[in-house]
Amino acid sequence: MKGKNNMIILVVNTGSSSLKYQLINMDDESVLAKGLCERIGEDGHMNYKTEAGTVFDKDIALPDHGVAMQLVIDALTDKEHGVISSMDEIGAVGHRIVQGGYIFDKSELITDEVEAGIEELCTLGPLHNPTALLGIRAFKKVLPNTPGVVVFDTTFHRTMADECKYYAIPWVYAEKYHVQRYGAHGTSHRYVSERCAELMGQDPAGLNIITCHLGNGSSISAVKGGKCYDTSMGLTPLEGLVMGTRCGSIDPTVVSFIYEQTGMPVKEITDMMTKKSGLLAVSEISGDCRDITKAEAEGNKKAHIAREMLLRSVKRFIGAYAAELGHVDAMVFTAGIGENDIELREKVCDNLGFMGVVIDKEKNNCRGKEVEITGEGSKVRVFVIPTNEELMIAKDTQAIVEAL
Ligand code: AMP
Repeated sequence: MKGKNNMIILVVNTGSSSLKYQLINMDDESVLAKGLCERIGEDGHMNYKTEAGTVFDKDIALPDHGVAMQLVIDALTDKEHGVISSMDEIGAVGHRIVQGGYIFDKSELITDEVEAGIEELCTLGPLHNPTALLGIRAFKKVLPNTPGVVVFDTTFHRTMADECKYYAIPWVYAEKYHVQRYGAHGTSHRYVSERCAELMGQDPAGLNIITCHLGNGSSISAVKGGKCYDTSMGLTPLEGLVMGTRCGSIDPTVVSFIYEQTGMPVKEITDMMTKKSGLLAVSEISGDCRDITKAEAEGNKKAHIAREMLLRSVKRFIGAYAAELGHVDAMVFTAGIGENDIELREKVCDNLGFMGVVIDKEKNNCRGKEVEITGEGSKVRVFVIPTNEELMIAKDTQAIVEAL
């Protein structure tokens, strides 16, 4: 089988108008090249970076995902700036898929049956799965002989306990319509929890870890013995924490009440709660935490409320998961806010003294680096671990392709 011993893997993340890519050499896990195609189907923009830096960052016609894929391959194999001599050097392609729903419990080799499963799940992931399929199909055209693997954001959460997985509504909605909690950011929670156990020098099977993925979208997971016990996102990534533009968990009757009062269609209300709520709505400034922190420091009251809401939701989920797990061995902060927001980590941890959390403020004074920030006498070890979903996708892809 082609690719069996080839350790170069292309990881792709297809959005509705974008395509992020990374070419990874699995021999040493180095990133040979990476970049982003944006505004596909619109005016088109693409960048391409190698270890030497940005090679190009330019407007370019990207009428569809197929053209974008071809340009990625052209850049990677370019005589002057390419990092491989031909596309045959790519052993496999790993695709990130947001919704694996009730069908997929693990990463899979792409077959017609797997594609059909992803298609069936478009009802559950209407924003993401159709575009992921576009990506898969475009790659099959460009690299017809290269195996492809799909890695789902939800599979890590498939081990959730029944009491966490289901909503307390009549069973018919779960049984007939698959309404249940699927979670998201699973690849990130899996990566940082495994890495945390590795840094602790312990078997994940014996550890309870709370992983905090705090970015534009945020979720927290309770990881017990290396498996997800509970996570904050639900049927969709709208549930849970207050996020950049998402409201997080709210009383569900807010939807029917707004509908009754305003006549706004349910789809528009969902859109409002997904794209125009969260930190953006409360601060009335931005959904970006950096802008809010700056405005708060300048005395903006709404920015202060937005920031406090974010802190409250992080503290609430950590507290809840500590109670659910019974004891906590470690906590991890990751993603844009988790990796970079020193003050947020300090304020959250300062409140967790009741569960024996102490952090070292000097060590916490770091951004975007893998650092243990545990303080003296802490009963819980605390880490900052930059997430690496691409590497996790590449590892799964390699394992599946090597087993062929
Ligand atoms: P992500 O979705 O993981 O890319 O994270 C995006 C979020 O991370 C945004 O809210 C940013 O404001 C936040 N972020 C990125 N860098 C910093 C920083 N240096 N300090 C605070 N927040 C940051």
